[in-house]
Amino acid sequence: MANIAFIGLGNMGLPMAKNLIENGHSVKGFDLVPSLVEKLCNIGGEAADSVSNCVEMAETVITMLPEGKHVEEVYSGSIFQSAKENALLIDCSTIDVETSRRVALKAKELGFEMVDAPVSGGTGGAEAGTLTFMVGGDNQTFEKSRPFLEVMGSNIVHTGGAGNGQAAKICNNMILGISMIAVSESFSMAEKLGLDAQTLFDITSSSSSQCWAMTSYLPVPGPVPTSPANRDYQPGFTAAMMAKDMRLAADAASSVGQKTDLASNALKLYQKYMELGGGSRDFSGIFTMISEGK
Ligand code: NAD
Repeated sequence: MANIAFIGLGNMGLPMAKNLIENGHSVKGFDLVPSLVEKLCNIGGEAADSVSNCVEMAETVITMLPEGKHVEEVYSGSIFQSAKENALLIDCSTIDVETSRRVALKAKELGFEMVDAPVSGGTGGAEAGTLTFMVGGDNQTFEKSRPFLEVMGSNIVHTGGAGNGQAAKICNNMILGISMIAVSESFSMAEKLGLDAQTLFDITSSSSSQCWAMTSYLPVPGPVPTSPANRDYQPGFTAAMMAKDMRLAADAASSVGQKTDLASNALKLYQKYMELGGGSRDFSGIFTMISEGK
């Protein structure tokens, strides 16, 4: 069993750390929010009072932070100076490909083994230990990180070299962001045409338009009891997070000269929903803006 440092104990990080503890690992954690570090202690973890203190004895360092700037700051500002020489570094945050590759290159120059391993599956998947991990890095480091990822997830995919985990995550969420809007527009139009949501769902959920945004996360209350639409769009996955991922997609597209008309429009719509106050609601709440014709 390993000594693990876990940095970023938010909605995703804390339940991921919990699964590591429950599987016998020693987890020392740090977050800028002290109450989250306390929560880690309450479930059997140990508190650190800084990133340096968190990583200095760890064999494996896991980060779960909001954005690229946080990841770069934490690695370049502390981890690279304080981690043990042979520590394995696993960044599970969703960030831009460029920053991810820059940090991985720096890690390599300093002699660390590192993978980017962003996740899909949300807070439910983090709690259940059923996340999908998209892992970028060389074969050897992927295999070394696998036993830790298998404790937190059920689908571990090696996507290629450094930054390719982020590329996979960004492409996945670009489809999700667009498809949620497509489902919202369609179900809103159906309602106005006098077509019952359950009737449309019974058809579309087993027809050619079937997708996850519809069958697992339908933005209309009723047909999918577990979807956030049935709890007044409490997240889940916030609209602000989705807007962040659509921005990452826009940046990634422009870095390789890829035209993404639908994704560009989707980003504008999520930004508008945020301006209307929807940022902290579930991203499927965009249905309400669309159905109100805003
Ligand atoms: P969150 O905001 O709940 O947690 C992030 C934590 O990082 C916060 O507690 C914050 O205090 C901490 N933090 C920020 N800077 C720090 C620093 N310098 N040192 C220590 N701690 C620091 O976010 P989350 O929902 O847990 O998401 C984390 C990452 O996972 C994001 O990149 C997000 O895009 C990705 N993600 C989230 C979900 C989801 O459903 N929430 C799903 C898939 C992927």
